[in-house]
Amino acid sequence: MFKPFHEVVSNVSKTILKHEKELGCPVIGVMPAYFPMELIDAAGGYPVQLWGNNLPLGKSDAHLQTYCCSVARSVLELELIGGAKMVKAYAFTSLCDTLINLREIYRRLFPKPTVELSIPFTQTVEARRTYLKSVIRSVVKGLEEITGQRITPDSLAEAAHLHGRTRALQRKLYEIRREKPGLMKNHDFYTATKAGFFLPAALYNEMLEDLLEGLDKFPAPEGKGLKLLLSGLVFDPIEIYKIFDELGVHIVDDDFANGWRTVSKEELQVENLVQGITEFLFNPAPCCCVYNPDNDRHPYLVDKVKKAGADGVLFWYTKFCEPDAFDRPQLINRLKEMDILAASIEVELSMTSFDAVKTRISAFCEIAEG
Ligand code: SF4
Repeated sequence: MFKPFHEVVSNVSKTILKHEKELGCPVIGVMPAYFPMELIDAAGGYPVQLWGNNLPLGKSDAHLQTYCCSVARSVLELELIGGAKMVKAYAFTSLCDTLINLREIYRRLFPKPTVELSIPFTQTVEARRTYLKSVIRSVVKGLEEITGQRITPDSLAEAAHLHGRTRALQRKLYEIRREKPGLMKNHDFYTATKAGFFLPAALYNEMLEDLLEGLDKFPAPEGKGLKLLLSGLVFDPIEIYKIFDELGVHIVDDDFANGWRTVSKEELQVENLVQGITEFLFNPAPCCCVYNPDNDRHPYLVDKVKKAGADGVLFWYTKFCEPDAFDRPQLINRLKEMDILAASIEVELSMTSFDAVKTRISAFCEIAEG
C-alpha cells in the first residue's frame, strides 16, 4: 500500500521533473514552515517543500556557519551544487533567524526570485492582521510576477479546497495511527507524509484516498507495544523510524512542525485572506517558532500525550535548531511534573550512522517499559 509513496521519496528529483513537465508550471521551492501552498497553487505554480536533505555538506560551509541547523545548510548545499535547477523561485517564511538570513544569502548568491512571508511577533490578533496585510500583498505580487498569472478569487478558493483536503486526509491517517497502533510501520507513515512535500496536491490526495481505503479494511493489530509521541521541528531522517519498527515501538502521535503542527491546520479561509492567513499561521497547534501567548505549548503537549495514550515523549532535536532548543527544557520539566517520561535525541539530516541514536532510543524504551 505504501509502495507509491516510497517511490516518490526515493527519487525526489525524478518525481518533481516528471510533474513539472506534465503541469507546465514553474516549480517554487518552499522553505519551511507554514507558507500556505494555496497561494502558490492559486498563482499557477507547483510548490515543493524543502525541509532539508541528506547531502554531505561542503560548499554551504563557505556561506553558513557549521553551527547552523542541517535543514538550512542542506537546502543551500543543494542549490550550490546545482541539484535544484528545476526550482525557479523560492518562498520563505521568517520562521527563525537562520531562515531570515538564508533568504538574504539566496538573494545575494542566486538570480532566482524569492518571496518572504514574514510572521509577526505581536501580542494581539489585531496587530498581527495589520502587519500581515502588507506582507500578504507583497507575497501575492511576488508570486504573480514569478508565474506571470494573477491570483483570482476562484483560483484561490480552488487551491484552498485542494490543500484543505490534503490536510484533512492526513489527519485521518494520523487518527488511524492513534487508534490502531501497529497497523502502519512508523517508517511507512512518515514516508507517506513526506511524499506530499513533492507531489502535486491533486495527485497526492488521490494516493492518500486509496491508502486510507486500504487501511480501513484492517482491524487494530493484537498485542501491545510501547507507544511514544515525538516532538521536534523536522521528522527526518526517516531512516530512524526503521529502528522504532525493529524495536516494536509504535509512534502514536507527533508534534513536528512538518507533521501535526501543519497537518492540523483547517482549510484556509480565503474570503478575507488576511484573516484567513492569520488564523492559518497561529493556530491550532502551538509552535516554538510562532509567538502566540494565547496558545501555550505546555498544557497542549500534556493533553496531546494523554489523548494519544502515549507512554512517553521523545524530543527529536535537529542539532542547532535554536527555537526548539529554547523551549525543550521547560517542556520536559512540565512533562516530568505530570509523571510523563521524556527524553531527547539529537539528529542531523546528513547523518549516515545511526548506532548512537539506536542506543539512545533502546535505552529510553527500556526505561519506559520498565
Ligand atoms: S530547523 Fe530550526 S533553526 Fe533550522 S530552519 Fe528550522 S526552525 Fe530554523
